[in-house]
Amino acid sequence: MTSEKYDAPGAGAESLPAADEWGGGCGPNCFTLDGDGFTCARVLDEPEVWRVELLMHDTFLPSVNAFVVLDGGEALVVDAGTPDPMNDTRLMRALLGLGVDPARTTLFCTHAHIDHVGLARELAEAGARVLVPEGVLADMRRFAVEAWRDEMAARLAAEGAPAAEAAELADVIWDHVVNFERERVAFETVAAGSPVGCGRWSFEVVPAPGHTQGQCVLWEPRSRTAFLGDAVLFLCSTCIGFWGEGEDPLGAQLKTLRRLAGMGIEHAFMGHGLQEGDVSERCLANAAHHERRSARALAAIEAEPGRTGFELVGELGWRAPFDHWAQTPALTRWFLVSESVAHLDHLVATGAARRERGADGVSRYFPS
Ligand SMILES: [Zn+2]
Ligand SMILES: [Zn+2]
Repeated sequence: MTSEKYDAPGAGAESLPAADEWGGGCGPNCFTLDGDGFTCARVLDEPEVWRVELLMHDTFLPSVNAFVVLDGGEALVVDAGTPDPMNDTRLMRALLGLGVDPARTTLFCTHAHIDHVGLARELAEAGARVLVPEGVLADMRRFAVEAWRDEMAARLAAEGAPAAEAAELADVIWDHVVNFERERVAFETVAAGSPVGCGRWSFEVVPAPGHTQGQCVLWEPRSRTAFLGDAVLFLCSTCIGFWGEGEDPLGAQLKTLRRLAGMGIEHAFMGHGLQEGDVSERCLANAAHHERRSARALAAIEAEPGRTGFELVGELGWRAPFDHWAQTPALTRWFLVSESVAHLDHLVATGAARRERGADGVSRYFPS
């Protein structure tokens, strides 16, 4: 990182680097993308993988990754960052710096969250082929529509959230999902199990439901390399929100984590942060973390049967300022409530608890 060079005390516009100094880099396999210190750095040699770090909005995560695989004059870009006037040109500067020909570039979208597909339009318009797994297209059609915003608000109200808060939480999250059909981004679909090629390398599209229903990862067995989107992170536990009543996203995520743990992944590239240790161990530790939280939810239901999902949120062991709920940002409240409901859905799906809808339309939880 060369940011110290630009952050000297009292630095003003006159001390910013000239445009042609950008790209100076932080080592032989790294170049800067602008004066903010964002970089494009080589993170693996075989296959050749570069990490483009892009600005992240809205959440506590510091940044989001786009990865570029290069081989034989072709490029495979995995995920495409958050839309932002600076990010748009950052990703393009990275691709220019790498000598990528957009006409020989494929963008693969792991899932339809805005921090992963936000710049797909820029790549498509530059001539890249945009590949969307069939499950991700299904997510776009189900979750990136007004009807899902209304379903979320209704579900939150049924879980005991006051009407105004149910509407506020549904509003704060629903447009974080992108719909290429509505936004007229050109794309092609790819089926689970299909190969996605880049030069000598062939990646397999592997479903990884949980964080979203249709999320897919890319797996290259010869080099034991995987691009995991938000299926698992080392920075934090990936967010699992509810889908429809009767569905079990947490159960899906536990299966995904165990499947990933058994694949023998050596090099993992995730949507946020970098690999920090053994992938299999991380997946199993994350699964255990979710199971402890579910056990805690069940204990809370047993301790005081008949509470609503909203009343149980504070019992699930979140490190969160529940004394100042109203002052907590709506997006944070959304993550806490939606993942709590996903845990309750899991307890109901596994038969550990039952949900009873009262005459007031609000559900309450009881031990089975
Ligand atoms: Zn995501
Ligand atoms: Zn993400």
